[in-house]
Amino acid sequence: MECLTEAERRLRDHAREVAQEAAAQAAETDRSEQYPWAMVRRMAEAGFMGLTIPKAMGGPGLSYFDAVLVIEEFSKACAVCGRIAVEANMGAVGAIMAYGSEAQKRIAAGLVLAGDKPAILITEPEAGSAATDMRTRAVKRGHEWVIDGDKTWITGGGVSRLHLVFARVIEDGEEKGIGGFIVARTGEGMPDGMTAERIPSMGLRGMPEANIALRGVVVKDDMVLRPPGGWARGFGRLMDAYNGQRVGAGTVALGLAAGAYGHALERAQCRRQFGRPIAEFQGLAWMLADMSIELEASRALIWRAARSAGPNGFPDRLAAAQAKVMAADMAIRVTNNALQVWGAAGYSRENPMERYVRDARMFAIAGGTAQVLRTQVAEQILGRKLPQTRDGFVRIAAD
Ligand code: FAD
Repeated sequence: MECLTEAERRLRDHAREVAQEAAAQAAETDRSEQYPWAMVRRMAEAGFMGLTIPKAMGGPGLSYFDAVLVIEEFSKACAVCGRIAVEANMGAVGAIMAYGSEAQKRIAAGLVLAGDKPAILITEPEAGSAATDMRTRAVKRGHEWVIDGDKTWITGGGVSRLHLVFARVIEDGEEKGIGGFIVARTGEGMPDGMTAERIPSMGLRGMPEANIALRGVVVKDDMVLRPPGGWARGFGRLMDAYNGQRVGAGTVALGLAAGAYGHALERAQCRRQFGRPIAEFQGLAWMLADMSIELEASRALIWRAARSAGPNGFPDRLAAAQAKVMAADMAIRVTNNALQVWGAAGYSRENPMERYVRDARMFAIAGGTAQVLRTQVAEQILGRKLPQTRDGFVRIAAD
């Protein structure tokens, strides 16, 4: 039951074909921990970077749903490439296309269509789930802003050219809210005032994660991403763009789980023990059945969330959170069970199963943890705020 149009099927099949090249080098990307530059160039040539960039900006103007079809295919083969496809179609680029000036959109479109995977800088050492506790400050000085602070776990730190930095806005000595600042690098090194230090990570090792220090980074006033409705509600509006990113992250989890499941299905039918294919043992057959059910359920939620996006809007907040929680939890279970089907061979580093298990682990943490997103879902189904600070309910009662 695919319900895809002819154009969607063609796009998916094209992505599946190119993703075979990603599959061939996924093990080496993991082993070397190097960003897969050659594959990214191939993805850009094939038109998979900047799919959602509007035609007026030189992109193909495809939908979030189209991007999801592509991301799943790359993630089955190489989850690092899947994540690159997310960031080249959603997140920072989505926010800039929605809220940016013409000049900002042109810069972002040019970089992404040429193969850049933008970075989004929100998290800080002391501000993870409580992102609005961030301390990074952008202070207005004449026609420019000066940014100081420390960000952590920044995906693509050191390889991305386009950066969307979130910081507290200080104008006329007063704090106004949280805003987005576009910092693009033109040369080879990091932009002036920015340094990146790599964080060794458990999975998705071809994708650098980095601590980024910002020391007196100067941003011209025309590179400020001004959220509609002003600074006070700025963070919320800019974070709407994150609903797209969440659907994308859920799709990577879905894709890599589907990849692991495919390997398990094959293995269960060709590996024999006790004189029969191991698939004949009910313990494994039901495990495979559960995997297929969970995968289909996750795909249905992801497709629903991706399709909820209007032509210029982002996916629905509730649908995006539900889909990401489901896919992230599912990917941990499915990749673990897929490795179980493989037995000892699955535990070997010569086999992709252990990589799938490691790669699956991050999606319940990054981009809103499974716990924080459940609270978001609860707020929306209950129709009430569920403040997380100790005095939150007292403050609501006082309003
Ligand atoms: P903490 O907030 O310290 O949470 C620790 C634990 O407490 C978690 O289990 C959490 O669920 C739980 N917890 C915290 N608060 C609550 C609550 N109110 N209710 C219930 N449980 C709670 N950030 C960026 O800005 N840009 C990026 O590109 C980026 N990429 C990332 C890539 C990876 C691989 C990873 C691992 C992280 C990335 N992040 C990025 C950071 C990510 O968004 C944060 O890790 C995430 O928001 C959680 O913050 P934390 O890790 O500090 O956990």
